Amino acid sequence: MNETEPDAQGTEPDTDVQRDIEPDTRDWADVLETGCAECGFTGDEDVTAVPDYVSASADAWSEVLTRPNASVRARSDRWSDVEYAAHVRDILDLFRERTSLIVSQSAPTLPNFDGDAVAIASDYRHQNPAEVALDLRAAALAYAADLAQITDEQWERTGYRSDGREFTVTSLTRYGFHELRHHLQDVGA
Ligand SMILES: [Zn+2]
Repeated sequence: MNETEPDAQGTEPDTDVQRDIEPDTRDWADVLETGCAECGFTGDEDVTAVPDYVSASADAWSEVLTRPNASVRARSDRWSDVEYAAHVRDILDLFRERTSLIVSQSAPTLPNFDGDAVAIASDYRHQNPAEVALDLRAAALAYAADLAQITDEQWERTGYRSDGREFTVTSLTRYGFHELRHHLQDVGA
């Protein structure tokens, strides 16, 4: 975290300096066992309903990204709407890739993703809201289309994160569903 005091109005000074946001070190996959009190995720959601949810989420994000302040951080320690959306766009691609690996390979190791590092490397903060909305929609529809093709046998296939944690397509899909749900709550949608 930076040590800069807020200005007299309690708002972030108008500056283009890239401020650091505290990296999120929590293992969010734990919500599969514990649920998430913050957004109401239970961990036993029906995965066959997720494709429709994923598709519909693109509409919600399109609305969010037309807000006049979509690129503004309301709090210096929180992402702006466009930063959350860029993260979700990349998460959608990541979960689609992970799903494809599990379905096509035998017990694969799934690629890691450091969302905070990617946010800085890809300069989420200065991405164009309209472009992010389009790309998020494309990513959502592609992921939803892949999930809609998963067969009963494929839902039970397994892959492993690099730390050894096992995922089935079912648990991976619930994990991805939580990401979408939680981040829509983060932006108040
Ligand atoms: Zn949550």
